[in-house]
Amino acid sequence: MSLDMVGPEPRPERFAVEEIRRSLEHERDSRLAQLRVIDDEARDAEQDFVWAQRESIQRVLRDIETAFARLERGEYGVCEDCSKPIPVERLDILPYARHCVSCCRRRAS
Ligand SMILES: [Zn+2]
Repeated sequence: MSLDMVGPEPRPERFAVEEIRRSLEHERDSRLAQLRVIDDEARDAEQDFVWAQRESIQRVLRDIETAFARLERGEYGVCEDCSKPIPVERLDILPYARHCVSCCRRRAS
């Protein structure tokens, strides 16, 4: 292959921003719906359990908001710890992922 093949065109976007925004909105809506269900059931449920559930959902909601902000700034899909790109396959599963797999493992241990 000749080097002439490398043209001056800008690199293709790594992400389809609109698509990511939609999947983030979907994630947020489903978490907000979960919170409503939890609140409806809260009267009967054990309070500690309800509190833990709310906490984990709200943590995800914060991550989703962070992902929205990073998308706006063009920083989406970059690990917050090591600044390496987060693999697209990971973002497909977890569109609000803030860290690459190895940084995530390091944090969890
Ligand atoms: Zn990382």
